[in-house]
Amino acid sequence: MSTATPAASAQTSTPVGVSTRRDPVFEELGFPPDPENLYTQTVGTMLHAADVIDLHHRVKVILAQPKNELMVHFPVRLDDGKYHLFKGYRVQHNNALGPYKGGLRFHPDVNLDDVKSLALLMTMKCSLVRIPFGGAKGGVKTDPRTLSTGELERVTRRFCTAIMHTIGPDRDIPAPDVGTNAAMMAWFADTYAMTHKATDSLGVVTGKPIAFGGSLGREKATGQGVINTLVELLPSLNISIEGMRISLQGFGNVGSWAGRIVQDLGARIIAVQDHTGCLRNDGGIDCHALAEHVLVSGGIAHFGADSPTGAGARADHGAQAVSEEDFYRTPCDVFIPAALEQMVRAEQADWLGCKVVVEAANAPITPDGDRVLARRGIEVVPAILANAGGVVVSYFEWLQNKASQYWDAEKVDHELNRVMVMAARRTLVCKQKYEVDMRTAAYTSALDHIAQVYNARGIFP
Ligand code: GLU
Repeated sequence: MSTATPAASAQTSTPVGVSTRRDPVFEELGFPPDPENLYTQTVGTMLHAADVIDLHHRVKVILAQPKNELMVHFPVRLDDGKYHLFKGYRVQHNNALGPYKGGLRFHPDVNLDDVKSLALLMTMKCSLVRIPFGGAKGGVKTDPRTLSTGELERVTRRFCTAIMHTIGPDRDIPAPDVGTNAAMMAWFADTYAMTHKATDSLGVVTGKPIAFGGSLGREKATGQGVINTLVELLPSLNISIEGMRISLQGFGNVGSWAGRIVQDLGARIIAVQDHTGCLRNDGGIDCHALAEHVLVSGGIAHFGADSPTGAGARADHGAQAVSEEDFYRTPCDVFIPAALEQMVRAEQADWLGCKVVVEAANAPITPDGDRVLARRGIEVVPAILANAGGVVVSYFEWLQNKASQYWDAEKVDHELNRVMVMAARRTLVCKQKYEVDMRTAAYTSALDHIAQVYNARGIFP
């Protein structure tokens, strides 16, 4: 059992990373005081880094609010003949660097403040990796697992229609996120193309199927980028990949690819959690077999001897189901959260038995969690660096669509690695220069780039 309560952890923690001070910008913009709110937390992180580099006040204020927030409601006929009114969002945070860019999430918890946070993170991510995109995010409040394929198609097409006036290949480019996939991007692109009668509109979304304008390497890109970043940072983290013990939270697109890729490099995945449960096997869980199992059964539960696919029995030799607390407490070298936001609060941060956390999900650690990890000397590789691989290959897809050309897989992998390595090095330079944690360092680099663009462009009129 944990000896520290979350409150005690927060009190005793060293104020490293995000400070507990409430920035005056919050008052100026009339933000209600709510430290649990994800948008307040995300803006707080950004403002903390902005202070480190003395970012001009006007840029701080601009970045603390999205440019546009769109909320839509649209009816869709379900298979039983009844109509359901869906709620959707598209938040365009900033476009100083280029067209707005960011995924579409289908999840029952989608809400405006979370979408705003994720859009801000996209602005930071694109700036850190120096691709010419701004930040956006969108989504539909629904559980895609409860919809049939036909219902999913109708919701996707109708949502596209609802936000169509504000997106476009040179304006705002959606992509997959939690609960969305390549097939849905194809319906989205088709709806846009049919409405615009345009043959050159493939670049309106990225993450499309290969057969319809997608890029090789896009499906695994986020997981690949997580591991490229980890590999580049190994010397500074003082760990090596051979025999590295990894605990993985989330086994969707990002988690399962990161697991498979790092396993192939010689690491051992010893614990996995998803929405169906937690598994532990100190001898190693074969992520290739687990991915096969999840494809058939929809989750990691029952992987092992009684796996319906037989994959677990063949490859796993007995992964044990464990409790959530035991999952967090599994002693390991690297913990990779690849699920949802705010999963690691002060309590879970106290439980973690790792040396390093590599954030594959967006905002998986709360500021309180961050402070506990800092106090315990656990290094955090922030999401805007670690999970930028997805949007980087989205950028490559957009370039390929514009040029009507296709790159081979080797070129995509090579270019992705080059961009991730440069971003990791940039982060380490800022870490040393400003003597800050890696999260603050990544934000300082991203903000500095945006500040330079604002300086050059000025503010219209
Ligand atoms: N949804 C992904 C992310 O959060 C990818 C976004 C994109 O490719 O535009 O980074």
